[in-house]
Amino acid sequence: MRVSQIYAPTLREVPAEAELVSHQYMLRAGLMRRAASGVYSYLPLGVRVLQKIMNIIREELNRAGGQEILLPIIQPAELWHESGRWNEYGEEMFRLTDRHQREFCLGPTHEEIVTALVRADVRSYKQLPLMLYQIQNKYRDEIRPRFGVIRSREFIMKDLYSFDRDEEGLDKSYQAMYDAYSRIFSRCGLDTRPVEADTGAIGGDNSHEFMVLGDAGEDLIVYCQDCDYAANVERAECAPFEAEEGSWQSLEEIPTPNVTTIEKLVELLEIDASRLIKTMIYLADDKPIAALVSGNNNINEIKLKKVLQCDTLVLADAGTIEAVTGAPVGFAGPVGLEIPIIADYSVSGLVNAVAGANKADTHIANVNINRDYIPTKIADIREAKAGDKCVRCGGTFTSARGTEVGQVFKLGTKYSKALKANFLDENGKEQPIVMGCYGIGVSRTMAAIIEQHHDEDGICWPISVAPFHVIIVPVSYKDEEQRAAAEKLYEELNAAGIEVILDDRNERPGVKFKDADLIGYPYRITIGPKQLQDGNAELFIRSSKTKVVVPLSEIVQHIKSLLNR
Ligand code: ATP
Ligand code: MG
Repeated sequence: MRVSQIYAPTLREVPAEAELVSHQYMLRAGLMRRAASGVYSYLPLGVRVLQKIMNIIREELNRAGGQEILLPIIQPAELWHESGRWNEYGEEMFRLTDRHQREFCLGPTHEEIVTALVRADVRSYKQLPLMLYQIQNKYRDEIRPRFGVIRSREFIMKDLYSFDRDEEGLDKSYQAMYDAYSRIFSRCGLDTRPVEADTGAIGGDNSHEFMVLGDAGEDLIVYCQDCDYAANVERAECAPFEAEEGSWQSLEEIPTPNVTTIEKLVELLEIDASRLIKTMIYLADDKPIAALVSGNNNINEIKLKKVLQCDTLVLADAGTIEAVTGAPVGFAGPVGLEIPIIADYSVSGLVNAVAGANKADTHIANVNINRDYIPTKIADIREAKAGDKCVRCGGTFTSARGTEVGQVFKLGTKYSKALKANFLDENGKEQPIVMGCYGIGVSRTMAAIIEQHHDEDGICWPISVAPFHVIIVPVSYKDEEQRAAAEKLYEELNAAGIEVILDDRNERPGVKFKDADLIGYPYRITIGPKQLQDGNAELFIRSSKTKVVVPLSEIVQHIKSLLNR
């Protein structure tokens, strides 16, 4: 390929719309362009990178027993009604109606379609296990599309579905995918960390997310400094506290005019936030409940929802809070409350704690569990944070931000039962197929690679996913000798099967170097008058910014050895 011919318009300026480095460089290096909010077109260089990522994915999935299929993007509403997700999916789903008024959606994911496919043709245990995957566009009308292809509304996903006879088979499929994911991301040059993930309604220890750590990440994770426990905070378990020692003192009202926040209360009473009972009133399936957590912690609503086993959970409005507590917002407490109370472990061990008094401008001291209030349930409902004790080993949690590039998930029989995808086992008995699903955000992976591999001049592609391995830059293409040497080397590298691009433009060398650095080709060979006199060229290694002089006659061999060929 020649730079004069390739459609790769680079930009000098940082586009105003792009906040993240990966987004900026994808636009500036001419890898993609925005078509609409959260919708992008990929240009040739971008497509080359995507194809490399997809090929790595294909190789590893095929090796693990996966078979590639291609499912429709347009999916009929009926299947989603069968699974119950047509309504559940909400506004994120792009919906459409055909000329006969039949409803469809643009697939945000493909569990329904693939389960319906398999139920029609799989009859016997002999046809299992199966692992089917596709690489295709997904559509989600994200509330806040941002960061370019990290959170877009149309994006490329690899989704694989496993079909097994039993849990044991599923465990094997899951492990095979977990291992394949580790290899895929490492071959893409990505440093990822698998963390335990929330499994929504399905529950159990059934899912891992592969996270790329970095401050730009939208997810928060905690990991133990002493053991290998790591989890998304949505999911991270918290260890119970030890009960405090001490004798119960009598309840005592404290006037706290206008003190409606933990910070103000801590300041006024000069006590540690951990001694305060924070009382949050929620509507769980429209019925009020109180959730208690210590003042230095926050409620994890995902955990709370699971404990309550409710379908909807929202913070109560001021009117409800006043009706339930008899006080304005900011003075709720557990004493005298006549609604279900869920207490977190962080408050269940407190002796002589401080809480709202359910009375305007008043708090109450020396609150003791089981004397002054009786919780309906004591449970782990708080959000894990840095400094907390690890549930597994008692070590200490650290927190970090991360971007999820992939997720593996044991579905069990959720979809096979709903869609009646059954098979006959060895005894001729009908059983639901046991399923798993496994996604990788292909376009998001591309951006994540740039987040991990760049510097102030541009992208530094890992060789495995670079759009070309080598760029040849003659300092002056007009110069006959330089041109001849560059063309000859170009032919030789091409013939050796090395992916090479030749900058044959009549541009100043500075412009050519800037573009090459921005696009991030791993190796640049500069052909200039001085070195050419001695039959040499300069090899520049993008990632380390190091230069070596190599005889022209040895360059092909040199590059081959750098590429491990
Ligand atoms: P998130 O929590 O980031 O919204 P998710 O858990 O909803 O993602 P999955 O349904 O697990 O996503 O999708 C599988 C993979 O697809 C994710 O791991 C992620 O890499 C990618 N992905 C999901 N949503 C988007 C999006 N809006 N834009 C780009 N990639 C996405
Ligand atoms: Mg996910």
